[in-house]
Amino acid sequence: MSTPTTSPDRASSLLVVGSANADLVVRVARHPAPGETVLGSDGLAVHLGGKGANQAVAAGRLGARVAFCGCVGQDAYGERLAAELGAAGVATTALATAADAPTGIALITVAESGENTIVVAPGANRSLTEARVRAAVTAAVRVVSVQCEVPLDAVRAAARHASRLVLNPSPPEALTAAPYAAEILAAADPLVVNEHELRVLLAGRTDRPRPADLVPLLGVRSAVVTLGAAGAVVVDGEGRTTKLPAPAVPVVDTTGAGDAFTGALAWRLAEGDELVAAARWAVLAGAAAVQEHGAQLSSTACGKLLAVGV
Ligand code: ADP
Repeated sequence: MSTPTTSPDRASSLLVVGSANADLVVRVARHPAPGETVLGSDGLAVHLGGKGANQAVAAGRLGARVAFCGCVGQDAYGERLAAELGAAGVATTALATAADAPTGIALITVAESGENTIVVAPGANRSLTEARVRAAVTAAVRVVSVQCEVPLDAVRAAARHASRLVLNPSPPEALTAAPYAAEILAAADPLVVNEHELRVLLAGRTDRPRPADLVPLLGVRSAVVTLGAAGAVVVDGEGRTTKLPAPAVPVVDTTGAGDAFTGALAWRLAEGDELVAAARWAVLAGAAAVQEHGAQLSSTACGKLLAVGV
């Protein structure tokens, strides 16, 4: 493995550890049945994707001093992802290149009905090591934000070495399967989950999962639950909740709302905000994301958000 490219011109206070994929998107009139071939209506679109890269780009475009730690392949997609991260203001010194695995790919079909199908080939994301993560957590890093689309021992390294960990356990099944899930959860400050992830993580622990249950039942230090159009709930270390409603906005595409939310939250925490204040920004970033197409928060949306603020 080699470590390529851009050196940050300012020390990063936020490190995002996670997946980077090339999203290959084709629009179809309808999804094919098994065994069937359908023609896409136009060409193939290629976008930077993966939860880690999406969160890092949101933070970078909002002005965070952010670095990304992940792994791509030694191929054209890998080079493209590194360039796009850099263009969004994300330092890529901790982006590794695997010699023996291709860049992660997500094959996405979008039907006219708006329904998506997604197949992910994780590729080089599986090659992210504990040692890479440990080395990326430099003294200036105040917050490490991690999801669960990379090996769980890399997630555990983030939990062990971060001064403050933002943990987005997506997909939640990956975390619950890990023998050391409790150690990772104990570092989360906050755990950031949507309603589906809340239910999966609390399954078998309570009949009626509520945000306030996350702290006592999972042992996390604090939590934030995103509620789609209803905004979010912040849970502090004593289990006290603060509800933050989302603004009513015209919805175009909800893909990536959660990643914009978490990227913005991690940015504000790294800048020293309290959790509730950071979550107010995150709710606005999520609401901005649903008003545009694609998984990533655009520069235009970030500009508007920064002009209005909270
Ligand atoms: P995920 O994308 O992980 O499923 P949510 O659907 O809960 O997560 O959305 C994340 C955040 O995006 C919400 O907390 C909210 O701030 C914002 N959001 C999502 N849907 C809407 C909506 N319809 N209107 C306004 N904001 C929204």
